[in-house]
Amino acid sequence: MAVHENVIQANEIIGRDAVKALERRGFTAEYVPTGAEALRRVLEIIPADATVGIPGTITVRDIGALDALKERGNTVYQHWGKMTNEERRAARFRENTADVFLTSANALTRDGRIINIDGTGNRVAGMAWGNGLVLFVVGINKLAFDLEDGIKRAKSATIPNAIRQNVETACVKTGHCVNCSAAGNDDSMCRAILILEQAVKGRKYHVIIVGEDLGY
Ligand code: SF4
Repeated sequence: MAVHENVIQANEIIGRDAVKALERRGFTAEYVPTGAEALRRVLEIIPADATVGIPGTITVRDIGALDALKERGNTVYQHWGKMTNEERRAARFRENTADVFLTSANALTRDGRIINIDGTGNRVAGMAWGNGLVLFVVGINKLAFDLEDGIKRAKSATIPNAIRQNVETACVKTGHCVNCSAAGNDDSMCRAILILEQAVKGRKYHVIIVGEDLGY
C-alpha cells in the first residue's frame, strides 16, 4: 500500500526535528526520506577500506547495506545464521572492535536519546564503547515521544526478535511484556538497557533517520 503524501511530509518534519535534538546532544545526525537513500549515505560515510561490524539488525540488512559493503570489498563481521557458540563469541568480538559499528536502534526519543535493549550485551557495548565510528540507521517507526515510550517501543521489538532467534521468551507466550528479567527468567532478552543521553566522550556517532518504517 502506498504511503500517503501527508504522512511522507509529516515523517520529514518529525525526522528533521529529531535530527536537531540529536545534534544538541552531540551526535552527528541527518534525515533521509528512503531506505535507498540511507544505503547511499552509508556507503558514502563508511570508507571503502574500513572493517565493519554488523550486530543483530534487520534494518541494516533490509536496506541492503551488508551485501553492498561486502560487494564493495569492505571486510564485514557478523554473527548471523548457523554458528558454534565459540564462532559466535569470536564474531561478536570482531564486530565490536571493527572500524565502524553499523547498527540500528530499538528506539529514538524525539528529544534525541537513543535506547537499546540487549540480552547478551554485545550490541549495547558496541554502541557505548565502539572502536571507531558508531553508525545508526533508524526507521521513522522507531521514534518515541519520551523515555518511557521509548523503553516500551524498544521492548516491543523483543517478540519478533525472539521468534527470529527461536527463543521462547515469556512475551512470546503471552503477547505482552511480563517483566520476566525481574523474575530472573533464563530466556529473558532484556538484560541490559542502554540509554545514550549524549554522545559518549571519545566516541564518534552518526545517526541516519529514515522517513520509512524499517526493522522492528
Ligand atoms: S522483559 Fe521478558 S517478557 Fe518483557 S519484553 Fe523482555 S523478554 Fe519479553
